Amino acid sequence: MQRLKMINTSSFCEAKKKVAILGSTGSIGQQALGVIRAFNSKAQIIGLAGGENLELLERQISEFQPKMFYSSVKPNLAYKGEFLSMEEIASHPEVNLVIIATSGKAGLSPMLAALRAGKVLALANKEVLVMAGEIITKEAECHQAQILPIDSEHSAVWQCLQGEKSKPRRLFLTASGGPFYCYSQLQLSQVTVEQALHHPTWKMGRKVTIDSATLMNKGLEAIEAHWLFTIPFEDIEILVHPQSIVHSIVEFMDGSMKAQLSQPDMRLPIQYALFYPERLPNPELPLLDWSKIQSLNFEPVDYNKFPCLKLALDAGKLGGTYPAVLCAADEVAVELFLDNKVTFTDIPRIVEKTLEQHASIAQPSLEQILAADAWAREYAERSSLCHCEHPTVIARNEVTKQSPRFLACLFSTLRASARNKLRNLRIAR
Ligand code: MG
Repeated sequence: MQRLKMINTSSFCEAKKKVAILGSTGSIGQQALGVIRAFNSKAQIIGLAGGENLELLERQISEFQPKMFYSSVKPNLAYKGEFLSMEEIASHPEVNLVIIATSGKAGLSPMLAALRAGKVLALANKEVLVMAGEIITKEAECHQAQILPIDSEHSAVWQCLQGEKSKPRRLFLTASGGPFYCYSQLQLSQVTVEQALHHPTWKMGRKVTIDSATLMNKGLEAIEAHWLFTIPFEDIEILVHPQSIVHSIVEFMDGSMKAQLSQPDMRLPIQYALFYPERLPNPELPLLDWSKIQSLNFEPVDYNKFPCLKLALDAGKLGGTYPAVLCAADEVAVELFLDNKVTFTDIPRIVEKTLEQHASIAQPSLEQILAADAWAREYAERSSLCHCEHPTVIARNEVTKQSPRFLACLFSTLRASARNKLRNLRIAR
């Protein structure tokens, strides 16, 4: 909470925003450009960084004419702007607001560069706070940099905290429950990629859509909220709210609660972070029509059906390098699912197995976090061959039972199992 209260609103709202968007070709990046297009007298694009979608990046460059740009594949553009790294763009003196809309660990290094340069950061890439929350929040304090949330739940909490002087007692992060909340365990094991990519209320990128369906996304958001608002995990609760109208609720010490409500549209939290503390009218944003809302439902989450949420909360509470391992294993498992190599219910299995096998380091350095990330990616990939129920994986294992890779994996599993049994025996004694 203190971090978000550090914002110097008087100087910040008057200046024209000189914006760099890292991840401009992703879902949040494109929506952020849409908001800037609608308010071009109040914000100017200085830098754009995209991934491999060169065609889209070229169109964005041609429309917004940034002074600098980056792409993971260097484009051959007849364009006078400078090609710089994401770190150079994020810390450039001409930029005063950096939108981190990358996914996974890609945003970590540029985010640290922006913090060290004292920029205002609008953060959509939750994984960076999950992986390295302690390092990032320390750097933000040290350099008086400001982190503004773009994630809808965290933006809601931030909006509810406006004008409040005392700390909240509890945060209630809402979750739509995703497309499979009413599914049985059997139905969950048969979910297809196409079904999982169809979210009932939000329009998002592929990785976050799958994370929303497994509820891993809500677990990552709880860790993100823990760091952004300096609130213990015990005081963060998850509520299933299928309509996605209430984006989060804050309970204060006197029992009073505030909630932020709107149609589910990411452009609203993007716009709030961009022009905070101003609330600007945007005719493109849909308004709530109360005559069409018959009810708002809330219910506790079913942790047994969605084990990813519990895994994320446990990793967050344990801290150390566990959250980085959680993120990396999840990224690998989601990628394998999207490639039709594992089933939907294999995702938590792979993440859990990887977390179980990890020896966490307390208060890790950035290098140790990145090493844990690399280890987890390799382990998750390998363990997917041993512990999945996907028919092709089972068939592959039947064929390759005698392969050195399978035997190494089997040996590693048996060794870990024996080690766990021995440890339990020692504890029992
Ligand atoms: Mg969210």
